[in-house]
Amino acid sequence: MKAIAVIPGTPGSAHLVEMPKPSIGEIADGRGVLVKVLRVGVDGTDKEINNAEYGAPPPGSDFLVIGHEGFGIVEEVGDNVHELKVGDYVVATVRRPGKSIYDVIGTNDMTTDDVYYERGINLRHGFLSEYYVDDAEFIVKVPRGLKDVGVLLEPMTVVQKGVTQAYEIQRRLKVWKPKRAAVLGAGTIGLLATLAFKLRGLDVVTFGRTAKPHLNSDLAEEIGAHYVSTADTSVYDFAAEHGGFDIIFEATGFSPIVFDAMQALAKNGVLVLSSVTGGDRRVEVPADKINLDFVLGNKVMVGTVNANRAYFESGVQDMSTAVLEYGEWLSKLLTHPVRGLENFGELIDLLTDGKDVIKAFCEVDQIG
Ligand code: BGC
Ligand code: ZN
Repeated sequence: MKAIAVIPGTPGSAHLVEMPKPSIGEIADGRGVLVKVLRVGVDGTDKEINNAEYGAPPPGSDFLVIGHEGFGIVEEVGDNVHELKVGDYVVATVRRPGKSIYDVIGTNDMTTDDVYYERGINLRHGFLSEYYVDDAEFIVKVPRGLKDVGVLLEPMTVVQKGVTQAYEIQRRLKVWKPKRAAVLGAGTIGLLATLAFKLRGLDVVTFGRTAKPHLNSDLAEEIGAHYVSTADTSVYDFAAEHGGFDIIFEATGFSPIVFDAMQALAKNGVLVLSSVTGGDRRVEVPADKINLDFVLGNKVMVGTVNANRAYFESGVQDMSTAVLEYGEWLSKLLTHPVRGLENFGELIDLLTDGKDVIKAFCEVDQIG
C-alpha cells in the first residue's frame, strides 16, 4: 500500500513510500481493527515535522509515516472486537500508552514519561496511508451523520480536553458559572473552541490577526461569537475596556500573547494554553503586576496537550450537537481538499503558503 513519509532530520522530505498492507493479526488478543483510510487532515504539527523540527520515526525505521488527523471506515475486525463492526466510520486516537500511572489508567494524554508515543508524530507511524491497523481500544466510532466532517474530530479533541480540564479545575469554586469567554486564534482550533464555548452558552469573543471580514471571522460570527482583530485591539486592551474573561482558550501559536491573556482574565478566571511553540521567543513582561493580579484574583493558568479516548467521545457529542444547532457550519471549515495520496506535495504547499486555509486535508478515498 501507499503512504506518505518523512525522513526525520531532512527538511522537506515528504515522499510517497510503498509498504506492506497491515493485518489485524499484528494486534494481540483478537483486538485488531483494520481501517481503510478515507481522509487525513494536516496541521502545524505536520508542517514542523516536514521541516524536520519535530517528530521521530518508529524504532528500526528510517522514515515516519505522517498524519495524525485520520478518518476512515472499518474493513475487518478481530474475533474479540465487539464494539465496532465492518462499515463503521472511525477515528483513531493519537497517543499510545507509556508506563506512568496516568498511562495505566487510560489517560496517556497526561503521561509523565519523558518519551511519548504519538501516531504520525513521535515513534509511531501515522494515518496518511491507504490502511492502518490498531487496537480497538484506540478507535472511536463516528456516527454516520458526521461522516463528511469526521476528519475534524482529532482537532476537536484538543479543544475538548482543554475545555473539560478548565471546567474540572473550576470545580474548586463550587459555584462557577462562566459567562464571558475569549478565544485567541481563529484557525481550526480557535474556531472549534469558539464552537465549544457557544454550545456551552457563553458569550464569546474570538481574536484573530486578520481584519474582518474574511472567512474565519464570518464563521465565528455565524455562530454568534464576536470577532476582534488584534491588529486593532489586543486582548489586553479589550479586557481593560470591556472587563475580564472568565475563561480564555489560547490557540494562536504565538507565545508572547500568553502574557496579554494572563492580564485579560477576570477574578477566579482560567486561562488554557494549547499552542505547541517550538521556537525560542523572548519578551519582557510586567511581572509584578501579572503576579499580583493572579494572586489577588485567585486565577489559574493550565497547559493542555493531546487527548485521550474520553475527549474523542465528547468531541463526537459536541460535533453532533453542532450539526443539530448550526447545520453545515462544521463542513465550512473543510476549505482545502486534495485528492489522492500521490498529490501530497499540494498538501504540503497548502500548509506552507496556502491562502485562506482553515483545514487542508487529503481525500485518500471516496466516502461512500
Ligand atoms: C496533536 C496532538 C499532539 C501534539 C503534540 C498536535 O498537533 O494534535 O495529538 O499531542 O500535536 O505532539
Ligand atoms: Zn494536530
